[in-house]
Amino acid sequence: MIDKHTFNGTLEEIQRSLRGLAVGGYRGFECTPQSLEKIERWGQGRPTIAETLEGIRADLGDCQRCRLAGGRRQIVFGDGHPGAKLVFVGEGPGFEEDQQGVPFVGPAGQLLTRIIEAIKLDRSQVYICNVIKCRPPGNRNPEPDEIQTCFPFLERQLAAIQPDFIVALGTFAAQTLLGTDTPISRLRRRFHDYNGIKLLPTYHPAYLLRNPAKKRDVWEDMKMLMKEYRYED
Ligand code: URA
Repeated sequence: MIDKHTFNGTLEEIQRSLRGLAVGGYRGFECTPQSLEKIERWGQGRPTIAETLEGIRADLGDCQRCRLAGGRRQIVFGDGHPGAKLVFVGEGPGFEEDQQGVPFVGPAGQLLTRIIEAIKLDRSQVYICNVIKCRPPGNRNPEPDEIQTCFPFLERQLAAIQPDFIVALGTFAAQTLLGTDTPISRLRRRFHDYNGIKLLPTYHPAYLLRNPAKKRDVWEDMKMLMKEYRYED
């Protein structure tokens, strides 16, 4: 005989799982042997059901989880191919991005677009997003608690896209993704591991606008990326 407390707890657990599935875009159950096997594995180690970017965006909603909500015009979630092999991660939206709701469309974004074209890709083939989704007032650096609040959404985006490569643009992206405070100058020039994905830190395009001489370093990083990227084709 199951007691009322256990029954209610189980019911809540089922409701939570169903809500999670609905947010992930699931609208029903199929009972193929593969699906039943997946269901049997639930709760045993790594989740087997990948979320969709739409589901993650829906969960973010009209986010009020941190103080940046008060100053933003709109949330800048991400842009590009949902199954991209390569994801660029920046710091956070600036003025233009906040106006348009699209990452990297201001002056630094135009330089990033040229970098992407220089490696013989275009923006529709890659995915571009940021560590934080709302513009900090006056483009100040994000605060640690703002990063902490927003980072799980980036983690979920990367888990949904499952790229082979991540380029971390600048200090905030590289340090946040790698959980380190090592300076970007020492992190760049080599691939790191982020949950089995090859992560290459490089300088942020906004930094390149201020220090054009560093473009040469970024080009070296991009050549390294291209070599690996083509090799994995
Ligand atoms: N800088 C960033 O880090 N991200 C953007 O989207 C734009 C500028």
